Amino acid sequence: METSRTAQKLTSRFVAGLTLEDALRVCASLKGEGILSSLDHLGENVHELSEADAARESYLTALGQIAETGLQTTVSMKLTALGLDLSEDAARQNTAALVDRAKEIGSRIEMDMESTGYTDRTLKILREMHRKGGPVRAVIQAYLYRSAGDIDQLCRDGIPVRLCKGAYQEPPDLAYPKKHDVDLNYVKLMKKLLDDGTYPAIASHDEAILDEAIRYVRERNYAADRFEFQMLYGIRRALQARIVKEGFRLRVYVPYGAAWYPYFMRRLAERPANALFLVRNLFRG
Ligand SMILES: Cc1cc2nc3c(=O)[nH]c(=O)nc-3n(C[C@H](O)[C@H](O)[C@H](O)COP(=O)(O)OP(=O)(O)OC[C@H]3O[C@@H](n4cnc5c(N)ncnc54)[C@H](O)[C@@H]3O)c2cc1C
Repeated sequence: METSRTAQKLTSRFVAGLTLEDALRVCASLKGEGILSSLDHLGENVHELSEADAARESYLTALGQIAETGLQTTVSMKLTALGLDLSEDAARQNTAALVDRAKEIGSRIEMDMESTGYTDRTLKILREMHRKGGPVRAVIQAYLYRSAGDIDQLCRDGIPVRLCKGAYQEPPDLAYPKKHDVDLNYVKLMKKLLDDGTYPAIASHDEAILDEAIRYVRERNYAADRFEFQMLYGIRRALQARIVKEGFRLRVYVPYGAAWYPYFMRRLAERPANALFLVRNLFRG
């Protein structure tokens, strides 16, 4: 894990810091701007169950701090950080520990969605947690053909969903290869969630899509507290401010920790201009 000063400088655009304290400072500052937050302790695809135990403990510490500080913060986690590649049972038990604690303190566990090799297992564990009364949120990726069916079922079960476009490389037999088709599917699924979902989260920085969401909820007179928008730390700050100014709820996803590499690379890959930003920052004193 890379924790040098150069690495910190490079990653600071998208990562709140190396420590929980760094991330909590960001959450408190967001709260000051009327923005909710979700803490993500970076990590995925651990190779040892001891690493999964450590991830669980980090998250339990974060939940303890959320309770103590009174921040309206949820926790976002990846099942492969909690050991899914090694033992489904261990990942389930680790998740249950977090869900139980989140329930105690009135928070929520948002189960990030990883690549398609994990989709079924993630939804299965999520449903088990929901059936036991756990405060969980599913993540559905609009680039997958299967997502309309998953959203229908999650709406019927009353499980909250975060809708995103999807951040992994997927084959064309599973996911729309063209961005235009992903965007069209996103809008279709978003409207279904706004109509029939349980407190959905519209997670995107796509201004045209957000404007369409706002037009749609205004047209139908849906209350602003029926859903929330979500965006990533460091992306489209002016748009974040605009959403809050217009009276909508916004939650910002706040990643922190030393295992920043895969998250950071996904953010770079999303936008070629980010590579330029990176190079400029590297040579700045
Ligand atoms: C809160 C939240 C949680 C997420 N959770 C998951 C998850 O669990 N699983 C998953 O697969 N994906 C997740 N994602 C990522 C998501 O799938 C997309 O990869 C990402 O959000 C980019 O898509 P977009 O909707 O912003 O639209 P895009 O069309 O990609 O981007 C729209 C505009 O936003 C800006 N923008 C977008 N990305 C960047 C960037 N990296 N750097 C700079 N500007 C950018 C640009 O101005 C761009 O024109 C999450 C996203 C959010 C906001």
